[in-house]
Amino acid sequence: MSAADARRPRIGVLAVQGAVSEHEAALADVGARTSRVRSAVDLEALDGIVIPGGESTTFGLVAGESGLLDALRARVDRGLPVLGTCAGMIMLASGIEGGGPQPLVGGMDIVVRRNAFGRQVHSFEAPVDVPALGDPPVRGIFIRAPWIERVGPGVEVLAEHGGHPVAARDATRIVAAFHPELTDDRRLHRLFVEEVRERSAGTEHEEDTVVGAQ
Ligand code: GLN
Repeated sequence: MSAADARRPRIGVLAVQGAVSEHEAALADVGARTSRVRSAVDLEALDGIVIPGGESTTFGLVAGESGLLDALRARVDRGLPVLGTCAGMIMLASGIEGGGPQPLVGGMDIVVRRNAFGRQVHSFEAPVDVPALGDPPVRGIFIRAPWIERVGPGVEVLAEHGGHPVAARDATRIVAAFHPELTDDRRLHRLFVEEVRERSAGTEHEEDTVVGAQ
C-alpha cells in the first residue's frame, strides 16, 4: 500500500444485517474508504473491518453457511484490525456466558453475556466515560446489549457501565457493547482508523511522505 493509501485505509463493513450505512458514514467522516463485505472474496483488499450490531446468531448462521465466517476468522487471526459493536463484540468474543454454543469469529480474550442489560424494552441511553477518547463521555446507545463478563490479560477495558466492562481493546481489536455509529460522535471510529493507519504505516515505513492526511 502506498503512504497516501495508508492515510485512507480501506475498511470493510460486514453487510449481513445491522447499521451498515451508519458505520460507512462514520468511517468516511474519519477519512477511510469503505466497502461492503458479503462474501469471502470481499475481504481481500481490506486494511480493517467493522462488524456491526444486529443479531449475532443471524451473523453466525448466514456467514457460516457462505464460508464467510471461516474466511473472516482466518483474516482476523492473522491480524486484520477489527471494530465490533454490540453483536459485533459478541462475534469477536472467545466465549459466551449463560448461552448455548453459537458460531463466532472468536479470537479476543473476552467472555460476554448476551442481552445482559435486558431485552428490547430495556434498551437505553447513558453517558459512558471512555478515558481513551477523552472528554466528554460518549452517548452510549445500548440495544439488547451484551456486557463483558471476563477479560484476559492481553485485553484493556476501555469503558464500564453499571460496574461491567462495555468496551475493550487488544492489539488488533476494539469492541463496544453500545452503538457509536448511531450518534454523531466519531471518536471511537477515529481511534480505530488511526490504529489501522499506524499498522499500515508500520509495514510501509513511509509516514514521512504522507500528504493530504484525512
Ligand atoms: N442482542 C443481540 C445479540 O445477542 C445484539 C444486539 C445488537 O447488536 N444491538 O446478538
